[in-house]
Amino acid sequence: MSTKITVIPGDGIGPDIVKSALEILEKAGCDFEYDYVDAGLTALEKTGELLPQATLDTIAKNAVTLKGPLTTPVGEGFTSINVSLRQHFGLYANLRPVKSFKGTQARYDNVDIITVRENTEGMYSGLGQKVSDDGSEAEAVSKITREGAERIVRFAYELAQREGRKKVTAVHKANILKSTSGLFLKVAREVAEEYPDIESAEMIVDAACMRLVMNPEDFDVIVTTNLFGDILSDLCAGLVGGLGMAPGANIGKDCAIFEAVHGSAPDIAGKNLANPSSVILASIQMLEYLGLPEKAEKITKALADVIESGDRTTRDLGGSHGTTDFTQAVIERL
Ligand code: ATP
Ligand code: MG
Repeated sequence: MSTKITVIPGDGIGPDIVKSALEILEKAGCDFEYDYVDAGLTALEKTGELLPQATLDTIAKNAVTLKGPLTTPVGEGFTSINVSLRQHFGLYANLRPVKSFKGTQARYDNVDIITVRENTEGMYSGLGQKVSDDGSEAEAVSKITREGAERIVRFAYELAQREGRKKVTAVHKANILKSTSGLFLKVAREVAEEYPDIESAEMIVDAACMRLVMNPEDFDVIVTTNLFGDILSDLCAGLVGGLGMAPGANIGKDCAIFEAVHGSAPDIAGKNLANPSSVILASIQMLEYLGLPEKAEKITKALADVIESGDRTTRDLGGSHGTTDFTQAVIERL
């Protein structure tokens, strides 16, 4: 029986780049079946709901989802649909790998970093959001639990071990955020003791930003809390040529959602300009998750060759072609 995968085409550039990834999966010989469902603005327009129950049911049923970026309209009662999905399905680990591909416009050619972002707690827990009636004061609550910190740090070390990586750097701000970041760092140090074969480092987030820009080769696996992970992973995307090159996997106990790191890019939506590599790379993460490393490798090679040779690449990669030409160039190599 073939594997059934939930597909959410998404908003803005989503449908075009997801289509590109699916065509490539098919050409690579993956015989998946797909359940298409909507969320975000597309769902709101069709059903009056941003996150229809049928979509949640399908995501739960198939366990694996490939998703385009989703727009959360302001004033619809949701802070973010992406965050709601992560919380609803307990997708506690957000894996955001970046790797240099030859031929991009990036400043470096030796970057290979995985950011492991805690995906359900911290400043994203959505707790205690308040603005005073006169608008003069605002507050929010950040919550870190020992269980949540331990789970994500252990996930990072297990990943490092499985993938033969050498070093895990815990990024924090425990000098200022003494309670929350302090607990995260304390737990990170405890878990690190259990993995003597892997080098453990810790770094304050501001210092980590500078170091990432100056010496990205010093980093291997980064593990950090939700908001820092959000910011650092965009920074890391910048090291390898921009958001078009950055995929993310949201992993929980029973279910996983694979997506691009970027948003729906309204500035280039509907113009056939988007670089589909982010979702193609997310589909490669999905293949690895499904235990299909040969297929993952095959697509990675084809993608790398297109980018290195500059054959029909998109504008963000220094080329002058669109999403569909780029996709065709990858397909011809499969
Ligand atoms: P969000 O709030 O949903 O994150 P955003 O305003 O941060 O939205 P993004 O969609 O994350 O917007 O995009 C940021 C910038 O990166 C935009 O200029 C966009 O055009 C560019 N960008 C994003 N994704 C791609 C892509 N796949 N290919 C080319 N450019 C992209
Ligand atoms: Mg963004």
